[in-house]
Amino acid sequence: MRIRFWGVRGTIPTPGPDTIRVGGNTSCVEIFTPDKQLIILDAGSGIRQLGKALQREFEGRIVGNILISHTHWDHIQGFPFFGPVFGRTNRFVLIGQKRVGKRLEEIMAGQFIEPYLPYAYKSLPADLIVKEVKDGETIIIGDHTVVKMADLNHPGGCLGFRIEHNGTVFTYCSDVSHYDDGFDQNVLKLAQGADLLVHDAHFGTLEERRKFADWGHSTWIEAAQVAIEAGVKTLALFHYSPDLTDNEVESILVKTRQVFPRTILAREGLEIHLPLGDKLPD
Ligand SMILES: [Zn+2]
Ligand SMILES: [Zn+2]
Repeated sequence: MRIRFWGVRGTIPTPGPDTIRVGGNTSCVEIFTPDKQLIILDAGSGIRQLGKALQREFEGRIVGNILISHTHWDHIQGFPFFGPVFGRTNRFVLIGQKRVGKRLEEIMAGQFIEPYLPYAYKSLPADLIVKEVKDGETIIIGDHTVVKMADLNHPGGCLGFRIEHNGTVFTYCSDVSHYDDGFDQNVLKLAQGADLLVHDAHFGTLEERRKFADWGHSTWIEAAQVAIEAGVKTLALFHYSPDLTDNEVESILVKTRQVFPRTILAREGLEIHLPLGDKLPD
């Protein structure tokens, strides 16, 4: 299972000299299974560069699944700029939940209206199929990839995903806040024994986390504690606050490794193959 990170930032894209090493694009992670199933997790601004890569790498038709954890803007804002949706022969299944009584397709299409953009969702040439899912649902992608999902504690909800292929497990919990008296049990269930857990590490400090408790995010220490509790093999910190610089994120990695040594930073451009060997990727 190949994983590539295209966007790792939370809230809003943060280009600039202080975010070059970790990256400034918002959430987008690509999975390519050994039986050639393309699964994209979230459509933040990172999906634009992924689109260019897919257009280079795929000869002819691009077919894939886009799992939308939730429709906060940092998880869908790149979708109108995902090049493959302009290819007539391409086909994507958008998978996610209804929010505030609105259908997923309506929410996605709501980004493509005047005066925000001069072209409409309905005018996109690719085949777009929308599949709405529910908390606790399991879906199969291709013949061998099982995707389990569960709603996480985040304002308005956020789906976490557990993706299993031939015994390899990848878990994605991008936006979640744990409780004062314990962990979000759905995170523990999805992450149980995972080869790689991608976990919200938005806040740099516990003080910030307490101050902005209603934002629905975690700190690195909670990510590390979850990794221990769920018995994951490797943890990737993810969804960094737009205020965190490269130096700050890198010092967070040092601190996290003191709690959970097999921790890596999700950073833009990182490519890893699961299951990982003993050596951690840089
Ligand atoms: Zn987010
Ligand atoms: Zn969110």
